[in-house]
Amino acid sequence: VVRLESVSVEFARHRVLSDISLSIPRGQFVAIVGASGSGKSTLLNAVSGLVPVASGRLGVFGEPARAGRADVGHMFARDALLPWRTARRNVELGLEFRGRATPVRREHALRMLDLVRLPAAADRYPSQLSHGMRQRVALARTLASDPELLLMDEPFAALDALTRSSIRDMFLDIWDTRAHRKTVLFVTHDLTEALVLADRVVTLTRDGVRTDVAVPYGRPRDERELMARSDYRDLY
Ligand code: ATP
Ligand code: MG
Repeated sequence: VVRLESVSVEFARHRVLSDISLSIPRGQFVAIVGASGSGKSTLLNAVSGLVPVASGRLGVFGEPARAGRADVGHMFARDALLPWRTARRNVELGLEFRGRATPVRREHALRMLDLVRLPAAADRYPSQLSHGMRQRVALARTLASDPELLLMDEPFAALDALTRSSIRDMFLDIWDTRAHRKTVLFVTHDLTEALVLADRVVTLTRDGVRTDVAVPYGRPRDERELMARSDYRDLY
C-alpha cells in the first residue's frame, strides 16, 4: 500500500503539493493526470523520496518514503541513462542495487534487452541510440529489478505516436506476464493512455486531488476497444 495522508510539499516556501490524501492498494495501476505544473512529478518524487515532505505522512509498504529503495523503480520522460555506460551496463544498474553477482546481472540485462527488442543495442552507448531506443533501455532497466512499486513519469511522452504505442504494448506484454501484478503510479498527459493502462485515474490540480475515478469494467485491450466503449467518452 502507498498511503499519502494530507501530504504537502514546498519549494522555498512555495507550496507545490497541498494536502494530498491518497491510498493505493498493492497491485493497483493508477494513472495520474493533470495540467502542467499541477505537481504530478513532485508527487512521484515525494513517493520515491527524492523530495522531502513538508507536512503530512507518506508511507510506502508500511515504511516512510525514502530514496534508494531496491523495491521502488522510477522511470522518467528522458535523459535518465548514464551516457558513459553501454545499454547493457545501464540495465545492470538496476540490479547492482540488489547486489546480484556480475555474471547473473549481465545475463539478466541481456534478457531484458531482448524483451524490449533491442538485443543488438547491448554494447552501444546512449548517444548512439534514438530517443525511442533509449526509452526502451530505460524501461528494461526499470523493470529489471522487478520492483514492487513502479513510478513512471510520462515515460513514453516525448515519442512519436507510433513509437509510443509500440513501447506501450511492449510494456504491457512484459507487465502482464509477470507472476503477480505490481503497484504502479503512471503520470501521463494522454487520457487515452491513462484509460488503456490504468485501473484508476486520479486528476491533480494545484489545489489537490480533483477527481479520483475507477476505470469501469477493467482495462480495455487496446485503443480501438477503448473507443468502442461509450461509457469511456464520459471521462473525457
Ligand atoms: P509537467 O506536466 O509539466 O511535468 P508537473 O505536474 O509534473 O508538470 P511539477 O514538475 O511537479 O509539475 O511541478 C509543480 C510545481 O513545482 C511547478 O510550479 C514547478 O515549477 C515547481 N517545482 C518543481 N520542482 C521544483 C524544484 N526542484 N524547485 C523549485 N520548484 C519546483
Ligand atoms: Mg512532470
